[in-house]
Amino acid sequence: MSLEAIRDLISKSCQKAGRATDDVTLIAVSKVQPNERVAAILDQGHRIFGENKVQEAAGKWPAFRETYGKVDLHLIGPLQTNKARQAMELAQAIHTLDRPKLANTIARLAQEIGQCPDLFIQVNTGEEPQKAGCLPADADGFIQEARALDLPIKGLMCIPPADEEPSLHFALLGKIAARNGLSGLSMGMSSDFESAIALGATHVRVGSAIFGDRSYE
Ligand SMILES: *Cc1c(COP(=O)(O)O)cnc(C)c1O
Repeated sequence: MSLEAIRDLISKSCQKAGRATDDVTLIAVSKVQPNERVAAILDQGHRIFGENKVQEAAGKWPAFRETYGKVDLHLIGPLQTNKARQAMELAQAIHTLDRPKLANTIARLAQEIGQCPDLFIQVNTGEEPQKAGCLPADADGFIQEARALDLPIKGLMCIPPADEEPSLHFALLGKIAARNGLSGLSMGMSSDFESAIALGATHVRVGSAIFGDRSYE
């Protein structure tokens, strides 16, 4: 699908939900995509991208930024504490804060660096053992803990289980966010961003629908 077609679907979904189109940020997930495809989207004026791995992002975005200027990077993959500094220096947002140790590290580094990216707390709404994110039952407590560290918590993020109806997970994430007074909801990918928008998504993370299939060779 073209970038324009995706933007169109986003604004139609917003309209249907009675929301303003600029209420939803489109994050173009460029992980593993060849540079030509990423450049093509940059050429169309898009400046908000998502990456999974700090290493990969650090390898390609400094050069793109040199050519294209300011780009907002969102890190959406699991983050190891020993990569936190590099992540914070590279990205404007981290969507995968999911444990106290990482929160403490980011808080310490924020003091040291003098700035901190926007943070989203990842919630493992499907309680899948292999997936990152704090458990739904621990979310309220962890949000409080992160706020006590003065971290800029903007919202919550989830990746629904592949084989379940995503809207149940979007609704659950929205409920946890609402009762904690958080407005940001990072949810919705290529296959389900429209239903995520209907349920309040403020950040949709769309990869293959924009760039085409990822090849992991
Ligand atoms: C890869 C990825 C996406 C994008 O997935 P698509 O199905 O290609 O849109 C979104 N969110 C996360 C966390 C991802 O890892």
